[in-house]
Amino acid sequence: SKKSGGNRFTFVSDEISSAAAEANDLELMMRTALKEGGFEVYYQPQYLEDGTLCGMEALLRLHHPRSGMILPDRFIPVAEDSGLIMPIGNWVLEEVARQFMAWSQAGLPQVRIAVNVSPLQFMHSDFLGHVQRVLARSGMPAELLELEVTETTVMRNIEEIARQMRELAALGVHFSVDDFGTGYSSLRHLHQLPIKTLKVDRSFVERITETNGTYSIVQAILSLAHSLGMQVVAEGVERKDQFEVLKALQCDVFQGYLFSYPLEAGAIPPLLETQTAG
Ligand code: C2E
Ligand code: CA
Ligand code: CA
Ligand code: CA
Repeated sequence: SKKSGGNRFTFVSDEISSAAAEANDLELMMRTALKEGGFEVYYQPQYLEDGTLCGMEALLRLHHPRSGMILPDRFIPVAEDSGLIMPIGNWVLEEVARQFMAWSQAGLPQVRIAVNVSPLQFMHSDFLGHVQRVLARSGMPAELLELEVTETTVMRNIEEIARQMRELAALGVHFSVDDFGTGYSSLRHLHQLPIKTLKVDRSFVERITETNGTYSIVQAILSLAHSLGMQVVAEGVERKDQFEVLKALQCDVFQGYLFSYPLEAGAIPPLLETQTAG
């Protein structure tokens, strides 16, 4: 049904409608996945410089009925636009708590699990209540749950978000700022929030060994974070030379393909057995 005949106007609208069609497909797929167990949480290990496993980040995957796995960069934006991020975000929290307890009851050492939280979840008035209920029902200790928020989340609607963050932090929940350095938050603002960790964005780690300003930026982030009592996670560490530079800069925690890809839950128990401190 394409009769664009070189008309640019039609071409643009074709492109828009195919993007809309893809969004529709994804939305339908996500609704089905919520009902039929089509989402899966992967876990990417985080390490101290001596190789001790100290935490994991929960990363969501969507199973495509035919073509395998869909990554979150494709479906999270659609989930946010459609409001589906609310039930999906709730499911991720519940699933992480359930999985944590299953490992724990199997006698495995416990490490903190970080969960990505969309700004929309935070804006929702009952986010606090939901996290409280998930922790209470599952028995997962609040101290072992970390919520990753982006700079834009915390800078938008700062009063309301600060209130919810403080209440969750009072329960023991940890907060980290994801993709740090890509937004425009001031550390002065962040300092007023109960944030334990900054995650240096992958784009900095990627360029840290090049002779440009990136090294200095990361150095400044690390020294400021440490002087404010925060710890720093480097994400997207892919090469040994990046790891070496980050170690020399006193970075606290390392995450990336150099150490491990995100893994399905079944692959985690042997790592907990052999790589944790306990
Ligand atoms: P993010 O929070 O910045 O997560 C890190 C992403 O980098 C993950 O992509 C991870 O697989 C990837 N990664 C880890 N190590 C390396 C590395 O060494 N090199 C490279 N090139 N990439 C690395 P993933 O799993 O595709 O997730 C993409 C984004 O989707 C996440 O970025 C996060 O913003 C979002 N996301 C994932 N799970 C959830 C979720 O449960 N809820 C929400 N709201 N967002 C999620
Ligand atoms: Ca993250
Ligand atoms: Ca990140
Ligand atoms: Ca990111």
